[in-house]
Amino acid sequence: RLEIKNICCAFDGRRVVDNVSLRINRGQVTCLLGPSGCGKSTTLRVIAGVEMQDSGEIYVDGKLICDTVHRIPPERREIGLMFQDFALFPHLSVADNVGFGLKSASKAEKRARIEELLERVDLKRFIDGFPHQLSGGEQQRVALARALAPKPKIMLMDEPFSGLDNRLRDGIRDETLTILKEQDTAVLLVTHEPEEAMRMADEIALMRDGRIVQQGAPYNVYTRPMDRAAVSFFSDAN
Ligand code: ATP
Ligand code: MG
Repeated sequence: RLEIKNICCAFDGRRVVDNVSLRINRGQVTCLLGPSGCGKSTTLRVIAGVEMQDSGEIYVDGKLICDTVHRIPPERREIGLMFQDFALFPHLSVADNVGFGLKSASKAEKRARIEELLERVDLKRFIDGFPHQLSGGEQQRVALARALAPKPKIMLMDEPFSGLDNRLRDGIRDETLTILKEQDTAVLLVTHEPEEAMRMADEIALMRDGRIVQQGAPYNVYTRPMDRAAVSFFSDAN
């Protein structure tokens, strides 16, 4: 379970994340929706630990991992990341990219896990290939497999499907959601697309100017938007 409490983050005196609190249980997907520049990516970067908040706390399964005094470094947070600009390691094969986070497993277990995941993102034929031999969308699916492989307790995803064409996107979304549910992961997913949120979210959090302005089940947020910004957001979906 991921909990963040009263997170604030400012750049040059401007509050980009303004008192944001969220709680996401394992097996639950929360979609963070909002206009460009409202602070979505910054919120995720703070949780990942690559950006430092000015105030507020982050808890994983009830354990404090970061406040303004204590700070567990990003690589020890057991948080999976899938960001749009997260590149593959160019010098590693597809298999080694996917297996990168699987340090403790035996060689055979590791290979089986890599094969399973590549199968599920429909890329098994590329298992011994290298990133430069793959299209952008294929690379993105490998990055997805890499993020899912270590079965993180928590997954932060920033527009993870935006580089995929329509034909592929629905299938990959559904498969990703299935894997995340199987692994009982708490997911915070940023998206621009209301349709994606309606499809994937257990809960939607609408963000504007650094604040969460509305939060609830997708159907409730969709049918009872709290303000005009929420209405205009969902009107794009139809
Ligand atoms: P988008 O949907 O376009 O990705 P976003 O909601 O993810 O937008 P953020 O990337 O969180 O928005 O940025 C929020 C604001 O904070 C923007 O105005 C951005 O310019 C500013 N910002 C983000 N990171 C920094 C930084 N390191 N230094 C200064 N300003 C920053
Ligand atoms: Mg962003």
